[in-house]
Amino acid sequence: MTVELDSFRHEVRSWVAASAPQDWRAASATHADFLATQRAWFKALVAGGYAVPHWPAEWPGGGRSLAEQKIIYEELARADAPRLLLSFVSTYHAYSTIEECGSDAQKARYLPAILEGETWCQGFSEPGAGSDLAALKCKAERKGDVYVVNGQKIWSTMAQYADRCLLLVRTSSDGPKQAGITFLLMDMKAPGVTVRPIHQIQGDEEFAEIFLDNVEVPVSERVGEEGAGWAVSKATLASERGLTLMELSYRMRGGMWRIAELIRTNGRQDDAGVLRDFGRLATQVDAACALADRFLENRINGIENIGDASVVKNSYSRALRAWTALGLRLGGLDEQYRAPITFGDLNTGNWMADFMNSYAWTIAGGSEEVQRDIIAERMLDMPREPKSWVGA
Ligand SMILES: Cc1cc2nc3c(=O)[nH]c(=O)nc-3n(C[C@H](O)[C@H](O)[C@H](O)COP(=O)(O)OP(=O)(O)OC[C@H]3O[C@@H](n4cnc5c(N)ncnc54)[C@H](O)[C@@H]3O)c2cc1C
Repeated sequence: MTVELDSFRHEVRSWVAASAPQDWRAASATHADFLATQRAWFKALVAGGYAVPHWPAEWPGGGRSLAEQKIIYEELARADAPRLLLSFVSTYHAYSTIEECGSDAQKARYLPAILEGETWCQGFSEPGAGSDLAALKCKAERKGDVYVVNGQKIWSTMAQYADRCLLLVRTSSDGPKQAGITFLLMDMKAPGVTVRPIHQIQGDEEFAEIFLDNVEVPVSERVGEEGAGWAVSKATLASERGLTLMELSYRMRGGMWRIAELIRTNGRQDDAGVLRDFGRLATQVDAACALADRFLENRINGIENIGDASVVKNSYSRALRAWTALGLRLGGLDEQYRAPITFGDLNTGNWMADFMNSYAWTIAGGSEEVQRDIIAERMLDMPREPKSWVGA
């Protein structure tokens, strides 16, 4: 650690200690409170210069090196500050898509609006198109200056609160299925958009279904050429498996004190079995952080091997499951009765809610089974799964 980075860490730590809301878990117990807490925290981070360290230097708080970004995430995790659940699609996915592939007008309109608090959701998945995303059917027909969109999207995180949507639609059914896909930026308040939140097992409503009935999206809101949406979506998806996973892994490591606290309060310090499980978990969590670190460093240096992102994703979701399972076991019955206060995080401190929610990460951003297939077939060069076995 250089002197400059040491002093940067000190600066971030002092700022977070003075600025992060302290009572945010209890204060996020209802949807309205959750929204207010998230919006206020995002505004504070923008003002403090820590909301978008991965954006270029021309933006407030942007242009941070990877080492500085890591320090910011480590310090936010260390202080147990709220995660930006409401704005992470805006600051990562929408930002990378518009910055890499958007028109000048789209950049000028949307990037400043994100920093002012406009929020986005991602409308990729459909009931019949998740792992096989290119099978999507949501249809857009060009009529003069607009696309008229009809269809359904599902599992869109925070769609019920979003101002805008990164939308993948089918504009043609000719040729290979990837070739007929177009990328649109849709106003969630446009006539014909209906959003229905999905109630989850742990009592939360983190994502929603989106129904589209003759929704008009101006042609000027298309990203890239018509039919080139598949290539544009790569810019969106790349951000999901990069910094997001580093932040989440660091938060998990930052939360190891919760387990240590349970061992102490339950008088299990001398229980060899518990200590062995704690040691194993610590190794697993550290390995997840190291893999996320190396993946990002490689990406910044232009090195990206097929399967690396899948290894990072699966190592995080496995460690998260092991972490929440141990917390639940050590917490005993007491943990299983507490009412969930879950809005806004994967790491709520309520082990039952966190344990149930940990399974979402075996699916989100690409299911674990499909990542395993990628690792086996494309990274390790193992034989392809016989088609007759799939879905048997
Ligand atoms: C918390 C969360 C947040 C999400 N947020 C968003 C969002 O904001 N926007 C968005 O568009 N989507 C979002 N998603 C959707 C997510 O991307 C999809 O759920 C995911 O891609 C899996 O698709 P599916 O649900 O259609 O499952 P399916 O593809 O139908 O898979 C069902 C099962 O079959 C297995 N399977 C499928 N194909 C194969 C294969 N070839 N080999 C082996 N096994 C296979 C899968 O692994 C899985 O176990 C989110 C999901 C979650 C859980």
